[in-house]
Amino acid sequence: MENKKIIKQFKLAAELMELHDENPFKIRSYTNAVGALELVEDPLEGMSQAQLEEIQGVGKGIAAKIVEINEKGSFAELDQMLQVTPPGVVEMLRIKGIGPKKVRNLWKELRAETVEELLEACEQDRVSKLKGFGAKTQENIKQALLFTQQNRGKLLYAEGELMAEQLLQSIKAALPEAQVELVGDMRRRMEIVTSLQFILATDAPVQAQQTFQSITELDEDVKASGPFAWRGSHSESGTPVEVKLVPVARFANEVLLHSAAPEHLAQPFTSTTNLLTVVREQDYASEADIYKSAGMAYIEPELREGTNELELALQNKLPQLLELSDLKGILHNHSTYSDGAHTLEQMATYCRDMGYQYLGISDHSKTASYAGGLREGDVLRQQREIDELNKKLAPFKIFKGIESDILGDGSLDYDRDILQTFDFIVASIHSSLNMDEKKATARLITAIENPYTTMLGHPTGRLLLRREGYPINHKMVIDACAANNVIIEINSNPWRLDLDWRYVQYALEKGVMLSINPDAHHTNGYDDMKYGVLVGRKGGLTKDMTFNAKPVEEVEKYFKERKEKVK
Ligand SMILES: [Zn+2]
Ligand SMILES: [Zn+2]
Repeated sequence: MENKKIIKQFKLAAELMELHDENPFKIRSYTNAVGALELVEDPLEGMSQAQLEEIQGVGKGIAAKIVEINEKGSFAELDQMLQVTPPGVVEMLRIKGIGPKKVRNLWKELRAETVEELLEACEQDRVSKLKGFGAKTQENIKQALLFTQQNRGKLLYAEGELMAEQLLQSIKAALPEAQVELVGDMRRRMEIVTSLQFILATDAPVQAQQTFQSITELDEDVKASGPFAWRGSHSESGTPVEVKLVPVARFANEVLLHSAAPEHLAQPFTSTTNLLTVVREQDYASEADIYKSAGMAYIEPELREGTNELELALQNKLPQLLELSDLKGILHNHSTYSDGAHTLEQMATYCRDMGYQYLGISDHSKTASYAGGLREGDVLRQQREIDELNKKLAPFKIFKGIESDILGDGSLDYDRDILQTFDFIVASIHSSLNMDEKKATARLITAIENPYTTMLGHPTGRLLLRREGYPINHKMVIDACAANNVIIEINSNPWRLDLDWRYVQYALEKGVMLSINPDAHHTNGYDDMKYGVLVGRKGGLTKDMTFNAKPVEEVEKYFKERKEKVK
């Protein structure tokens, strides 16, 4: 079992113990173990009891449980607790903002055993009357429950990616001769994926479907399937899967029809033609031929949204989209100075060894005490270490940054004398997320107008499929960035992808540069930049407008000149 999944079991066990009001010392030993295991790089699977005990923070008891997980898939103590907890109550543990103790009250005092019962209790205003809850908490619970209901069965792009790739390989293995393409949400690089769709070219659809029975990842829904469409789900995740079986000659046409937003296909580009009419006319050998026949340049699937891409393609003015290989450095990262898993030096050498020219370290600022935010002394200590490392690692360069909390009134988190020591500052909101649009927008704009702000971090604070971001007026925020020469990050963590791609184009029109930032808390986190690149591309982002596609000298010069202007 992967380390992540093993750690998840211990996290759940700690929560369940708290839910059942068990001994706090025992709970602490579990949460400590979680912290210790998160730092382990090697696979826990296959480690012996003795090897596990050598891990700092892992005692005999925890080590034995890992061995048990490796053998049986879980451990007895967890199984026993799950047996005495209704599944709906376990689900309630996932509600943001309420811990196991509160869930216990909802369960024991309101007798809510399913999320539906809890939702009903919220609607009847019974939750707010419980001790320690109140109307605001009740509203938060209600919103969280509704949000989960709406998003059930949906996946993040990053979660769908691996699944879709494996399925594609399995289908190809079952039918080695056939042409098959992943289409739908995945191919359009949507940040949230509702189903996995494939187009398969075959002139013998029934025989082809029979071979699917050998694919273990697929569960067929016989009722929903037909001779030209296999429908069912991915057996492990339950995500809906559809494979359309089309005649070989129609393959390119069908791939295009299933790899574009309806608006892209329906938008007229002459008085009488749209892409639907072009596709209906004849069979094409490739998608490129279809666009050619329509008299326009080839449009990448991620751009097929029905905004202005057809117009640009007709004039042959489509942007040359950013590539991951265009990026020269990695900005917005955390180290062990705040809540990162790796030391500054580890983060830097790993980044250098990936072939990048620079790293921007931006740990949390002092107000983010829950995330180990840096006090003034820590800042200066870190900056001394950066100076030393820069000597040692040259020409590789570490830029001194901070992810400054944007406080409630929009101000940054340190006094001037500390603010001016940084090369760059990412300003982000992490607290008081329950604001209306007017307040949130004003708070961001105040931070953007602060001359020390270099970059705006995750503009809405959203966590896809987990929580909605605070509402903001994107255009006003982008206008303020344009006026104050502030870069906007595309936070590339698959849960965030914030700035949303729908606003990338507006930012580009206003001349605002974007930065593909992984917000890495671990050296693995650097890999997330690929998702940021996909989102940027979807919004039409080019290399020229990507800040961290600049070489190190230009970035250094940019930061320096900006700082000089403040004085
Ligand atoms: Zn942040
Ligand atoms: Zn961060």
